[in-house]
Amino acid sequence: MILLKNAFVVDPAQQLEGVCDILIDHEKIVAVGENLSAEQAQIVDLTGKILLPGLIDMHVHLRDPGQEYKEDILSGTRAAAHGGFTSIVSMPNTQPPVDHEAIVQSIISRSRAYGYADVYPAACITKGQKGEEITEMGLLHKQGVIAFTDDGKGVAHAGVMRKAMDYSRIFGGVLISHCEDKDLLGEGVMNEGIVSTELGLAGIPNAVEDLMISRDLMLAKLTNSRLHIAHLSTKSGLAMIKAAKDDGVSVTTEVTPHHLFLTEENVRGYDTNTKVNPPLRTQEDCQALIEGLINGDIDCIVTDHAPHAREDKEVEYDYAAFGISGLETSLPLVWTNLYLSGKMTLSQLVTVMSRRPAEILGLDKGTLKVGSMADITIVDPIVEKIVDSKEFASKGINTPFNGLLLKGWPDKVYKAGRLVVDGGRLVEWEGNAWI
Ligand SMILES: [Zn+2]
Repeated sequence: MILLKNAFVVDPAQQLEGVCDILIDHEKIVAVGENLSAEQAQIVDLTGKILLPGLIDMHVHLRDPGQEYKEDILSGTRAAAHGGFTSIVSMPNTQPPVDHEAIVQSIISRSRAYGYADVYPAACITKGQKGEEITEMGLLHKQGVIAFTDDGKGVAHAGVMRKAMDYSRIFGGVLISHCEDKDLLGEGVMNEGIVSTELGLAGIPNAVEDLMISRDLMLAKLTNSRLHIAHLSTKSGLAMIKAAKDDGVSVTTEVTPHHLFLTEENVRGYDTNTKVNPPLRTQEDCQALIEGLINGDIDCIVTDHAPHAREDKEVEYDYAAFGISGLETSLPLVWTNLYLSGKMTLSQLVTVMSRRPAEILGLDKGTLKVGSMADITIVDPIVEKIVDSKEFASKGINTPFNGLLLKGWPDKVYKAGRLVVDGGRLVEWEGNAWI
């Protein structure tokens, strides 16, 4: 047994915000309260530390199978743990794509064996992500698939998307929509506007995203199904989602730290680490997204962790791959920019980074209630550190945040009662004694 003593505990699911103790027995939390004691328990004094339910990131690209030179399940789950995440959803646009049972099983069993973070695989909406024929969604759902998405591209055919929504409703599945109109996207590489014109780069207008958000909201209403809009980047898209929510549509949405804290102005140095899809938008969009997150119109924060190899990024802007390696900077970025700046409470931070993702996915997580899995993220609020991608556990060092001084770094992380991060460093172990 492990007794975590004197931490400042934040768990909005049980309206808990104050100093208390948590007792862990094997993988579960068995007691929460003041002045707990337990004979023979290992006591960990956490005076001055802040203890949160383990963070959940429902949008991660692990690149495995097929592109293990960019990331694999081991390096990706180590990056997750290092960033304070105990559960992640893996996106299915791998090579081959996750559209049949064997790949699902392989992802689940390998991530379990490593034990750094729980991986919940998402599977494709359409076979081979070709946008034509929907996958065996019911069967895949039974195999442990948590959500369906053709992330990386939009489902262009409205009839196919409608069919997928009709099927997913039968078993209560969540469809995650990557909203992008491919024809309108063209060769765009950054937000369309004055900056793209000045830089001589092809632009991506908000309409590329908004067209499909609008369509999918209508389809979700028509089919009465569960829709989740991925990586929202536009103020106009947010307005449509809010209106649909008010209209009773069962829709949720997410935003990434880079869409909250960076704008198209950051592209001016042609740093390919700012090339991301959807693109970094305007200050006005960022402001609206931050407000939407604070007032609850945006449900959660995800990283859209998209690790790439050096050669994918060390090319001209036009040719560089889209994406940011985000797992290891998300918590400190949100902590520093939203919590320490006074825009958001710790309770809100836990809501958008743990509790809501668990609710959206139907997971019995995102809380420290007695009986819960002991997935715990502990922050030392004193520690201040400069982002240095050389310290990432991810194989992807593609981040535009290098050099930023941030607070809110994970100090300790417990995954199912096991210490996986200690003093901000990953705990190493051999074999898979975990299972
Ligand atoms: Zn996407």
